Amino acid sequence: MIRQFELVERVKSYDPGADEDALNRAYVFAMKAHGLQTRASGDPYFSHPLEVAGILTDLKLDDSSIVTALLHDVVEDTEATLAEVEQVFGKDIARLVDGVTKLSRLELQSEQSQHAENFRKLVLAMSEDIRVLLVKLADRLHNMRTLHFIKSQDKRRRIARETMDIYAPLAERIGMHRFKDELENLSFKTLNPDAYKSILARLEFLKREGEDLPERIVDELRRVLAEGGVEAWVSGRVKMPYSVWRKMQRYNVGFEQLSDIMAFRVVVATVGECYHSLGELHSRYPVVPGRFKDYISTPKPNGYRSLHSGIIGPERLRIEIQIRTREMHEVAELGVAAHWKYKQGEDQVDGRQYRWLRELLDILEQASNPEEFLEHTKLEMFQDQVFCFTPKGDLIALPRGATPIDFAYAVHSEVGASTVGAKVNSRMVPLRAQLHNGDQVDIITSKAQRPSPDWENFVVTGKAKASIRRYVRQEQRHQYAELGRQILQKTFRQEGHEFTEKALDGVLKKFKRDSVTDLYTTVGQGHHTAREVMQAVFPGERQKRRLQSVFPSLRPRGRASKPAAKDGAVPLKGLIPGMAVHFAHCCHPLPGERIVGIVTTGKGVTVHTIDCETLENFQDTPERWIDIAWDAASDETPHLGRLHLVVANEPGSLGSLSTIIGKNLGNISNLKITSRSTDFFEMLIDVEVSDVKHLTNIIAALRATSVIASVERARG
Ligand code: MN
Repeated sequence: MIRQFELVERVKSYDPGADEDALNRAYVFAMKAHGLQTRASGDPYFSHPLEVAGILTDLKLDDSSIVTALLHDVVEDTEATLAEVEQVFGKDIARLVDGVTKLSRLELQSEQSQHAENFRKLVLAMSEDIRVLLVKLADRLHNMRTLHFIKSQDKRRRIARETMDIYAPLAERIGMHRFKDELENLSFKTLNPDAYKSILARLEFLKREGEDLPERIVDELRRVLAEGGVEAWVSGRVKMPYSVWRKMQRYNVGFEQLSDIMAFRVVVATVGECYHSLGELHSRYPVVPGRFKDYISTPKPNGYRSLHSGIIGPERLRIEIQIRTREMHEVAELGVAAHWKYKQGEDQVDGRQYRWLRELLDILEQASNPEEFLEHTKLEMFQDQVFCFTPKGDLIALPRGATPIDFAYAVHSEVGASTVGAKVNSRMVPLRAQLHNGDQVDIITSKAQRPSPDWENFVVTGKAKASIRRYVRQEQRHQYAELGRQILQKTFRQEGHEFTEKALDGVLKKFKRDSVTDLYTTVGQGHHTAREVMQAVFPGERQKRRLQSVFPSLRPRGRASKPAAKDGAVPLKGLIPGMAVHFAHCCHPLPGERIVGIVTTGKGVTVHTIDCETLENFQDTPERWIDIAWDAASDETPHLGRLHLVVANEPGSLGSLSTIIGKNLGNISNLKITSRSTDFFEMLIDVEVSDVKHLTNIIAALRATSVIASVERARG
């Protein structure tokens, strides 16, 4: 185990200004928090975060990253809380630790790797600060190095699969080839042990056969370059078993000699010397056609720069050579981490977290060829997405701003249509809440539920929008048909005619309709009146009674009217408000009140209270009036009553107001102060009530309160 002072010294060796105190506190905090916990290897658990910190000192990362590495498992695996971390180490460290903790939780949720691409995007999207990702990658690297201690083969294989599918490509994505190579190789060893062993055995054999072949090649290359006037550091290395294996798979080739699986590297001081070295080698040895690539003038999207070439080199062996400067070399090995190191100190003033992210984005933005452009667009695409989980751990990708309803429809349209509520990370949220990356969404459904037209106003996915719209349109047509049928039935009966569908069949052509249902719908929508239809069925027959007896509720306002017999009225039963029937906003009718319907062409029926002033506008068009009755039994949805109040402007008056309404089981759904003076507020309050009696009770209770000067139902 690295000792406390060793760790601090390592960090100080490359960053003399590092916060020594924070490093010491983190060391002690993590050691105490993990206490007697042990790893599968039998080592104290604390050795793990310590090794992760050690890996990051190799990358020469800043003190905050090292502190985060030490603390990265305390929130998830010990009694310590994020709040304590923030208290002891401050907001920045807490944010970083929280980021790594969240990534670890995702790991537990996603057992399937078929969504690898989405999952990689999710991890990247959640690493708002790239240091979070670097700590996570180092964490995974150490876990892979100690993977063989885990007893269960299934578990080892699952972790290795995940590393291969998610973490190795992520490391490559941000240019950390050294991490990527090691992660891939360790995974390969677990996933395909036979292939791994056979390649290793072959490598050993060829090394014995070739004796000091690599050294001889390196010596000759160094001499050739020195003769040409370039001082270069030359090295040769055998490729890792996994990259040999991939090459064999991809090109369907075996390897006969060591040089087939070796790569040579020439590292020089300047860019000019890179091209100079290339010239020297190309003029001395035959060049293998088609192997030359200039990644210096056109870097790869992840920032990689080098010259690549293939030559028939020393001892007439075909070899691959990479030529680069020292800085390019560090970037090739360490990716983003190296960029950070080289530019460190340039912009200390800006928050560190932004600099890191900018580094990554800069690299990606420098993309110039189509392939790179595509890479870049992909990044933008996932920035507009959120990735959420079902309780089973399935990943659902949604556009940013998506709600639980979008999520439900993405799972299945039937789930969407029957959604009544949602839990996000085990807490109930409103259906219009916005989802965030990594949220676990639990949709609560009910067979009785139907999609609400209101949902269309806040969903963002096309699928949800289309499904809701399709349902609303279908249901509206159904409602219009039902309304039209009831209106026709009522009118026929009042005129003393028997109402049969058969009788209507004969007049379909006249109204250019295909079916009786179609005809119902046009009547429900108000395109034709019931009277028109009846006169078509019984042509030549005069209106038997006068209008007023057909609509008994239609009487001059102000005159006391006895409740009319309900047998002629169209019941609201089965008609959903908001579809074919709307409640007028001028008078807010409530169950128990006398009401009347006004047919509006194409929009169905608007329901007013019988004493609503708006009705005066319709005095001249009696054919639009429909007698309508409440159907108390089937109506359970709350109705809105609007009150106009004058309340004393003094402490606690609003409190007593809401207490009284609450005690009387009314729910305030909206409150608007229309004017205020030194002494009084005037306000409008919408209260959800079951019927008019309920609202009357509330009004009475309010009037009995001293702070309330007056209460009236608001009209118009
Ligand atoms: Mn860990």
